[in-house]
Amino acid sequence: MKLIFCSLSSGSDGNCYYLGNEFHGILIDAGISSTSIRKFLKNMDIPMEKIMGVLITHNHSDHIKGLELLTRKNTLPAFTTAKIWESILTPYRKISNDCIRKISLKQKFHLAGFDIESFPVSHDATETIGFHICAGDKKITIVTDLGHICQTAATYIKAANFLVIESNYDEEMLVNGNYPPYLKERILSDHGHLGNKQTASFLAGIINDNLSNICLAHLSKNNNSPELVFKTLKKTFLERGIILKSHQKITILNRNIPTDIISLN
Ligand SMILES: [Zn+2]
Ligand SMILES: [Zn+2]
Repeated sequence: MKLIFCSLSSGSDGNCYYLGNEFHGILIDAGISSTSIRKFLKNMDIPMEKIMGVLITHNHSDHIKGLELLTRKNTLPAFTTAKIWESILTPYRKISNDCIRKISLKQKFHLAGFDIESFPVSHDATETIGFHICAGDKKITIVTDLGHICQTAATYIKAANFLVIESNYDEEMLVNGNYPPYLKERILSDHGHLGNKQTASFLAGIINDNLSNICLAHLSKNNNSPELVFKTLKKTFLERGIILKSHQKITILNRNIPTDIISLN
């Protein structure tokens, strides 16, 4: 099965990811305008008709901004838990009932040729989930907003061949920057976001030969840079004696523009 992944946008301005095979595709989050989603997919020669549904991680606007129009214009089904739907439907009432698909945590469902499972992660929304997606012998885990990696999330991350994980902020930039104290506290907390050191150290502990692609996602505009993410990861891996094999690739996802298409084969 030919498999591709593309990040259309990643970060606090908006998140949207595409995963597809030769026949169908799915989106993970719709945190940019539906016009941008359609435009970016068109630029990559991915017809909208290929999209079979959108998976939603949580109700923060950088993950659902484009959901209402996207589902309305394309009568696209959207999948998330009943609890997250409840939190979305209060401010976004125009989402048609026909598009609402309720899923249960840790229960597999089938969509577009993928077997998909959701699992809870620690973040300050009503509920936040990550996704573990099986496509043939490939296993993809996507976790973009989480303050710390609990045992459950770690299990799904460790099972992945292809991992999208947050590396949100550089600890020094955040602590010394001009965000108000309550916001710093929120981001640093177990229900906030993962910092570069946290992500790098976790990855150093779990990396194995089966993990061939790591995409570092959801970088902060004000408290991070791709250079700092790389530098922290390189330093941590060096200290822990980890040398990447030739098949193992690290990609830092762009904040507001699509990242080059990544082949999972
Ligand atoms: Zn977010
Ligand atoms: Zn969030």
